[in-house]
Amino acid sequence: MARRLDFVDHRRELERNRYVYPVVSRRARGLSIGVNLNPDKICNFDCPYCQVDRTTPGGPPRIEVGALASELEALLERAAGDLWAAPPFDSIAPELRRVADIAFAGDGEPTTPPEFPKIARAARELRDRLAPGVPLRLLTNATLFHKQRVRAGLAEFDDLWCKLDAGSEAYFQVVDGTRLPFRRILDNLLLVARERPIVIQAMLLTLDGTGPDDAEVAAWVERMREILAAGGRIDHVQVYTVARRPSDPRCGPLAYERLAEIAASARAAGLRASVYV
Ligand code: SF4
Repeated sequence: MARRLDFVDHRRELERNRYVYPVVSRRARGLSIGVNLNPDKICNFDCPYCQVDRTTPGGPPRIEVGALASELEALLERAAGDLWAAPPFDSIAPELRRVADIAFAGDGEPTTPPEFPKIARAARELRDRLAPGVPLRLLTNATLFHKQRVRAGLAEFDDLWCKLDAGSEAYFQVVDGTRLPFRRILDNLLLVARERPIVIQAMLLTLDGTGPDDAEVAAWVERMREILAAGGRIDHVQVYTVARRPSDPRCGPLAYERLAEIAASARAAGLRASVYV
């Protein structure tokens, strides 16, 4: 029997590809074409819930822009043609046989490589030519938005999905595993949210059996309220939790009821917020 891809099977197909990979996405409700700009598996965060397998070494950090563009072009062309007739894609449920998005989301922070703006532009051109109407998305931790080089790349994307997992510096350091200043992330989110609406993604989970307490949730809502009050725009907030077992055994999923409560807190602050499980 052919392998069946479903909402929880995120194995990467097209094994020969170095940068571009298709994933059936429960959130995007279709095929999400992933672009990995971090083949070296290096990230400036070290989130305990991270799904990247860092037990095996990554590849070289330098990205061959031409090779990446060729992989994306080939997959977009196949998605408009015979992709769905070939295994394992022929086992995808008919309603999901659509390219839902092209998402820069890889094994680290996608805005880090110096090639980021050039690749973003190439992806935009390919999308316009081969998949008009399919959103080009960036999943980012916003750490580098203050850099001019990165801002030039951001302009190519339709959607910016920005990580905000915490409301306090102390919890930020724990849940995102970084000593980068929390203030910088918040300033960066505001900088860009003043120019265009952003989407906030919050990974909420248990660490050693305990989720964020009420004070932390209130602080998280307050950080977003501050962005709005300072003239930033937040299109919506996505609240989600760990769907698969992360390598760090301290991490566990937060109960749906608690996620719903947290999303309701964001809505009470005037934000559109949904739980994604
Ligand atoms: S920002 Fe993303 S890639 Fe980096 S450690 Fe966190 S979850 Fe992993």
